[in-house]
Amino acid sequence: MGQTFETQVAVVGGGPAGLVAGCLLAVSGVPTVLAAAPPPADTRTTALMASSLAILGRLGVWPALAAKSGALKKLRIADDSRSLIRAPEALFDASELGLTAFGHNIENIHLLAALRAKAEKTPNLQIVPSPAVSVVPGPDNVRISLTSGDSIHARLVVGADGANSICRQAADIAAKTRDYPQAALTLNFSHSRPHHSVSTEFHRRGGPLVVVPLPDNRSSVVLVNTPGEVERLAGLTDAALGVEIESMTHGLLGTITPDRARGQRRLGTLTVDSFGRNRVALVGEAGHVLPPIGAQGLNLGIRDAAEIAALAADALSRGKDPGAAELLDGYDRARRADAAPRQIAIDLLNRSLIADFLPFDAGRALGIWALTALPPLRREIMRRGLALAG
Ligand SMILES: Cc1cc2nc3c(=O)[nH]c(=O)nc-3n(C[C@H](O)[C@H](O)[C@H](O)COP(=O)(O)OP(=O)(O)OC[C@H]3O[C@@H](n4cnc5c(N)ncnc54)[C@H](O)[C@@H]3O)c2cc1C
Repeated sequence: MGQTFETQVAVVGGGPAGLVAGCLLAVSGVPTVLAAAPPPADTRTTALMASSLAILGRLGVWPALAAKSGALKKLRIADDSRSLIRAPEALFDASELGLTAFGHNIENIHLLAALRAKAEKTPNLQIVPSPAVSVVPGPDNVRISLTSGDSIHARLVVGADGANSICRQAADIAAKTRDYPQAALTLNFSHSRPHHSVSTEFHRRGGPLVVVPLPDNRSSVVLVNTPGEVERLAGLTDAALGVEIESMTHGLLGTITPDRARGQRRLGTLTVDSFGRNRVALVGEAGHVLPPIGAQGLNLGIRDAAEIAALAADALSRGKDPGAAELLDGYDRARRADAAPRQIAIDLLNRSLIADFLPFDAGRALGIWALTALPPLRREIMRRGLALAG
């Protein structure tokens, strides 16, 4: 017979969104159990924007990570689509918003280690290092069975178990997925010229190529193209891949020396018909998957975590049920308002790049021209991109 953990809230999934949710719930005074097997090794990096850094700062994990991260002081968009109608280059400067940086780029391995260490020493938070095999919502609580034979009974479950979430299925939340004819190659590299803390997004016909600063003369790249082209690039020697990236970035960073570790991932989107139902709230990729354009995915996931932690803590402080239907309705409304416009905008931009259709190119070029020509519009878009109030 396994052990049964009785708790107010259970978080399923120990990726970055689940770890942030577990920590925020616990520091807000909500007794929480986190079902989290150690996540698989991840060589990617994540650009975390100001709203996420504020939340990580509140948890006390950011100061130690800051020295391992690259600041994003400027963001450049370069139209490299080779279309007849091309957008002018757009440069966004964090100082226009009175910020020293839009955000910071950090290797996932450092981020996950810092979050896991924080979770392990946070009072009110118990980590059970075992995946969930079944999640059964009932009228008063949710029963979770773990592979270890243990179980958790919780009034609210935070489903942070990624794109194939079993929490989502258990809560009867429908997900719509769309596969893109694209894949992403991710790797980190050293370069001979300084990046000056500028991140550049090249809008290429097969998909964007995004170069993001790391500390010193190092950067990470996300290169989106057809699965066949990504496979070919991933199979090149370090020297040959360095030459290809040098050419695609027009020599901006000088000579490029790639690290050995490379990641590949097919791209697509996932949208849900609700962010919360039947005592289950979805956070992170359990509730939204976006293509890696504009660094929105985990930044949204961290805001999901902050929202559900605030709602659950508030309910408990008033003696209310943290898994109540009204609370989950409010969570759904708040998260939909944040996620849906970003999912639509990123999907449209990506489609306009792969369509090779002049009117789409013209629309994209006009949009980017408007951003360069109209500073108030540019500042508004920057604020929205960063999810800053006002
Ligand atoms: C190429 C690329 C670049 C990106 N760059 C950025 C960026 O710069 N900025 C940004 O904000 N976002 C970025 N993203 C998005 C970001 O990576 C994701 O939003 C983020 O990793 C999702 O985290 P998560 O915790 O929701 O999901 P995951 O990382 O998938 O974690 C889910 C966890 O749940 C666990 N799990 C699954 N099933 C169970 C179960 N039954 N029981 C218990 N545990 C379970 C898994 O093992 C895993 O550890 C990028 C994505 C890609 C593909």
